[in-house]
Amino acid sequence: MPFQHDAYDVIIIGAGPAGATAAAMLAQAGKSVVVIERSFFPRFSIGESLLPQCMTYLAEAGLLDAVTAHADKLGFQFKDGAAFYRNGEHTLFDFQNKSSAGPGTTYQVKREHFDQLLAERAAAYGAEVHYGYTVTAVDFNAAEYVQVTIDKADEHQTIKGRFLLDASGFGRVLPRLLELEYPSDFPVRQAAFCHLKTTLSGGQFDRNKILITVHPTAPELWFWLIPFADGTASLGVVGGTEYFADVDTPEQALWQRVHEEPYLLEVLGDYQVIRPAQLITGYSANVSTLYGDRFALLGNAGEFLDPVFSSGVTIALKSSSLAVPLVLQQLNGAKVDWEQDYTLPLRKGISTFRSFVKGWYDTRFQDVIFYQQQQPEVKTMICSILAGYAWDTDNPYVRESERRLRVLVELCQES
Ligand code: FAD
Repeated sequence: MPFQHDAYDVIIIGAGPAGATAAAMLAQAGKSVVVIERSFFPRFSIGESLLPQCMTYLAEAGLLDAVTAHADKLGFQFKDGAAFYRNGEHTLFDFQNKSSAGPGTTYQVKREHFDQLLAERAAAYGAEVHYGYTVTAVDFNAAEYVQVTIDKADEHQTIKGRFLLDASGFGRVLPRLLELEYPSDFPVRQAAFCHLKTTLSGGQFDRNKILITVHPTAPELWFWLIPFADGTASLGVVGGTEYFADVDTPEQALWQRVHEEPYLLEVLGDYQVIRPAQLITGYSANVSTLYGDRFALLGNAGEFLDPVFSSGVTIALKSSSLAVPLVLQQLNGAKVDWEQDYTLPLRKGISTFRSFVKGWYDTRFQDVIFYQQQQPEVKTMICSILAGYAWDTDNPYVRESERRLRVLVELCQES
């Protein structure tokens, strides 16, 4: 498809969840939007377990109906909670028992199908989505337009837009080109994962929940098991680099550790690997700023914390939900306070997740999760955060996450 305009209102880099959602919203607001996507869809991506809070942002962007309508056909697995297991202890969080208002269920999705669906819906709303083009340079020198260089094989061209949204995820286009990279406060960790065909019949397994199990002797090493509705599942292990130092292949990284977790093996039952293991290192990332003159960073192009608690897509969608109204205001000539109206609110939720992620790896939050005498009211508040409601400041564990978590940990550890 040829490019339809000489100059667009908005150029978006990347057609992942952040980019597609922003594109859908902007197109519905009547803006000319072009999305430049490096890959050809469908393409694999990790990040398969959604949180119920996502559904709010998908609905806001006019994308939820398509997701629910295609769920069965695309093998999206209904999800209503999270199950945790550590050395004989089980804990279940049913997301419908959360303190925050909003959806209590969601899906686990194969991202190649989910991302393609969102991008196609954005295109149906009028966004132009161009696949196979890589953004290689940006130029903010002209007063009127941002100029973006895009490459496809030998083709080399520039396009213009009044505003640039970077939703390039781990591609991190603007952080690299504009030198915005900032070290994450998390240590370098690795994740090894694959897809399996499996009946998942063993243990106390509830396929409507993501299963997170903790390594029997190294509690900072954990596993995910994410079932899909088509009889396949995603299996992964996450931990510090020291746990994978003696392995030569992604397969070894995954299976050596999985074979040390008997409960997980029991749940897996008979299985067949259908997508070979992959190993990713050092995915946590941050930036010095989430916005600048005529640009903003969405989703993982900004900050990424950690896979535990499956917060990535939720944060990506939240970023689009916050940024798009501001882009519209700016395009209409209004002055926008990006710090006040974008960075601060977005980072509020990210910092909530950060407190709980830190507490997971230093195992304090694991003690809370596996504490069996939890007060029901407290459990509903923790459940809200696990369901993605990390921006609900009515929840004291959002308002003062560090302090509240500290007090709760003391309580659980004393009893
Ligand atoms: P992406 O989904 O990464 O999309 C970015 C798009 O930009 C890609 O399609 C890419 O091809 C394109 N692109 C990149 N560079 C360029 C370029 N130069 N030009 C043009 N296009 C470009 N999140 C969850 O919610 N649930 C989970 O269970 C979960 N598990 C995870 C497990 C692991 C091991 C990791 C590392 C992450 C996990 N995440 C999870 C996080 C999740 O993967 C991301 O947060 C999410 O995909 C971010 O969406 P995004 O739209 O910002 O970026």
